[in-house]
Amino acid sequence: MKLLAFFESIIVAISCFFGSIFNLPDKNVEKIIENNGGMIYGVCHPNENYEMLGDAGFKWVRFDIPCPYDRSGNVTQAYKDFKERCRGYAERGFKVMAVTPYPRDYISGMGFNPVENEENIAKTKGLAVFLYNDLKDITGAFQITNEMGLVGFMHPLTIEEAALYIGIQLEAISEIKDESFPIGYNSADLIQVSRELHKLMKPYLKYCDYVGIDLYTGVQGKAEAKDYVEKIKKLYRMTGKPIILEEFGFWSEGGPKSAEQKAEILGIYGYSTEAEAIADGANFVNKLPSQFRNTLSLEHPGEESKWAELVFGQYSNHFYGESSAETIENIPHTPDGQAQYFKSVITELQKCKCLAGMIIYCCQDMGTCWVCGHSWCPFETKWGIFNMDGTPKPAYYAVKEIITGK
Ligand SMILES: [Zn+2]
Repeated sequence: MKLLAFFESIIVAISCFFGSIFNLPDKNVEKIIENNGGMIYGVCHPNENYEMLGDAGFKWVRFDIPCPYDRSGNVTQAYKDFKERCRGYAERGFKVMAVTPYPRDYISGMGFNPVENEENIAKTKGLAVFLYNDLKDITGAFQITNEMGLVGFMHPLTIEEAALYIGIQLEAISEIKDESFPIGYNSADLIQVSRELHKLMKPYLKYCDYVGIDLYTGVQGKAEAKDYVEKIKKLYRMTGKPIILEEFGFWSEGGPKSAEQKAEILGIYGYSTEAEAIADGANFVNKLPSQFRNTLSLEHPGEESKWAELVFGQYSNHFYGESSAETIENIPHTPDGQAQYFKSVITELQKCKCLAGMIIYCCQDMGTCWVCGHSWCPFETKWGIFNMDGTPKPAYYAVKEIITGK
């Protein structure tokens, strides 16, 4: 049997290798597309403007499943609200790519480490089965947690534990699920930690209908739209599975800040130079928004004395809301530039035969960046194809045109 599995894996590897080079059709990709009635087009963190989302050609939305239970075993209000939200989309013909909870949610919400021992592993498997049975009729697919491999997301698991966490849930659901309900996992780009995750996930690939990836290539830095397809093909060769692009997007605002703009931001905190702020140490750090302090304590625990300096080092871009002048195909970070980005990237993606779906990040702009808490930081505020008030941006119309032809 082992020998047979070995030969099978060699055949898959060879066919994916040539398939990716010559862009050949893959029957597993075609099956997902056929079950869906076409390529999966979706949007992350959707608003409730069902009509406009439908008009743009989206049949899918993507958002997170919260912890189903609290520490006492009662169903949480957040989970009830989540189901209500799913029903709202399901009733209008949308499917939900539902992202199962992070390990840290299990620990803080339900009070147990999901892979600590056999008993907890059994509990985690049971919860995965519960989520599938409870949600299968009002969602459409599962992504087993998100971007494991990134420290902030896999915390406090190791990468080996993170792979186990994903693998046992995939295995448990695959034993009972309907064939037309895709399950898979997702990585952040193809950076080193994600490659490590894919290596560790090899024993569990047989339970996956697809493998997901998030790509933000060229949001900061030189790139071409074709680079998206190259990365997707590489992941296809690594896993032999249909690929779903779970997140991709571009800010409608960004770029370098002038000395005057930076001085103005320092002024908001009451300083005229960076050195002055750093010298003020803890006092300066305490003036930062709570999100900024949370990020520092999560990513640099026990290094409090360095935090003020780190704000102007590693986190300088967030502090000033400044990004690189270089972008994909030199597209500017403007509302029209964002529209141009989607046109250029989606056109390339549509040609890619190993891709079963693409989900835009994200639906609507946010008031403040969750990393730094600043309203002037584009990093986690300007991804939307709708403005904060729900009015569409040029990117909405560009996406609509390219998906629906209208
Ligand atoms: Zn920020």
